[in-house]
Amino acid sequence: MITGFFYMLKIGITGGIGCGKSTVAAVFAQLGIPVLKADDLARSIMQENQSVREAIIHAFGKDAYVDGQVNKSFLASKVFNDPHQLLVLNSIVHPATIKASNDWVLQQNAPYILKEAALFFESGSAKGLDGIIGVSCSKSLRIKRIMDRDHLSREQVLARMNQQIDESLKMKLCDWIIYNNEEELMIPQVLELHQSLLQRATHYSESNNL
Ligand code: ATP
Repeated sequence: MITGFFYMLKIGITGGIGCGKSTVAAVFAQLGIPVLKADDLARSIMQENQSVREAIIHAFGKDAYVDGQVNKSFLASKVFNDPHQLLVLNSIVHPATIKASNDWVLQQNAPYILKEAALFFESGSAKGLDGIIGVSCSKSLRIKRIMDRDHLSREQVLARMNQQIDESLKMKLCDWIIYNNEEELMIPQVLELHQSLLQRATHYSESNNL
């Protein structure tokens, strides 16, 4: 376990659907780095936070929950092609998610933490991060991975991809890139970046007398 750090760098990890964010983040987690998955956090808040539940039912109706469980497919169908409804849902879920995420950061003790999210740039939640790692992968491989993983058709995967900003633009906005395209080995890239982030965290703490 890595302990004794006073300033924790907050690093984001992002990339297009199916690029391998979770897979790459899992390698960082193996190195002792705490990882927060924004999607899982938002889901648990929709499930457990009483005022969020009430606001969702008020906005979308009782069908938003079935037997006390969030009805993901119903909500997805409401917001998928309706930017206004998406905005309504985000305005309910985002503030509570940001608070829970900040609370989680305060509980960690590590040189840096990772926040994994598909939509940092789209949602404006890149603010407050010390840097963002992009996971890059060709579109054709991403489509194949998601078709295999989620048993979806090519058209269904493309419809999801079209909800996100273009992958090459997303990578341009990132500070570091991990290439997870099965042409270059991924784990050595993670190890190298991990060392660089450890040095950056130490340097930051020393230069700020922390
Ligand atoms: P989403 O955008 O849906 O959140 P993601 O970017 O987190 O997905 P993963 O779930 O990590 O992507 O990976 C998508 C699929 O591709 C998974 O089935 C995963 O096992 C596989 N995969 C990811 N990276 C690799 C790799 N380097 N080699 C082989 N398979 C991989």
